[in-house]
Amino acid sequence: MQVLSSQNRAATKQNHTQGKLIVLTGPSGVGKGTLMRTLLQRHPELYYSVSATTRQPRPGEVDGKHYHFIDRNKFEQLVARGEFLEWAEFAGNYYGTPRQAVLNQINSGKSVVLEIELSGARQIRKSFPSAKSIFILPPSLAELEKRIRGRGQDPEDAIARRLHRANEEIQAANEFDIQIINDDFETALNSIETALDNFDTCQDS
Ligand code: ADP
Ligand code: 5GP
Repeated sequence: MQVLSSQNRAATKQNHTQGKLIVLTGPSGVGKGTLMRTLLQRHPELYYSVSATTRQPRPGEVDGKHYHFIDRNKFEQLVARGEFLEWAEFAGNYYGTPRQAVLNQINSGKSVVLEIELSGARQIRKSFPSAKSIFILPPSLAELEKRIRGRGQDPEDAIARRLHRANEEIQAANEFDIQIINDDFETALNSIETALDNFDTCQDS
């Protein structure tokens, strides 16, 4: 982690205007992607970090926009080259945040939002103590399952893995700076907007 921190500093030390680094986490199906899409439409000044993943694209997902879809071999090469700020295995696939793109944006003064799962959020907290984190909670587990099924894009075994993981993730919600329940969509979105306004800029990128 110390190596990571010094790389981060070296990559950004020439510029004094730092953006904010914001981590958005919550169980699969809670509505993170939907919240993010609306947030980005309303706030084009934010930079959404497009992750790499080994998961298969869902119908309608576009390479380079929703994810960089790559195979496991390529992902492991990128890990070995230190090209991810954080990465994790989730429900049988790898996911990772491209390091340089995020550091460049923060360095140029743009605020960056990472929509990542729990272990990635923990890695970011260690590397960037001034990053701010938001955990999105469902109104209930029954509603969460309904949303995952309603999305209609995950096979049955993936749904089971995601629900199992959801229980673990929800128990960690208190580790995050703030918790927001995504019951009424507009209310949840407004709470995220207020939190983003109040967060400090990133001091350790
Ligand atoms: P995630 O990115 O967290 O996996 P999605 O954004 O794909 O979740 O949302 C899962 C499903 O829940 C989608 O069908 C979405 O339209 C729906 N959804 C999101 N927010 C709400 C909400 N506040 N109330 C009801 N349904 C919602
Ligand atoms: P999905 O397959 O539903 O798109 O994403 C599964 C989980 O992986 C979600 O919780 C999502 O937030 C998380 N995720 C997406 N990109 C990344 C990433 O770059 N790093 C980590 N650690 N998790 C990610």
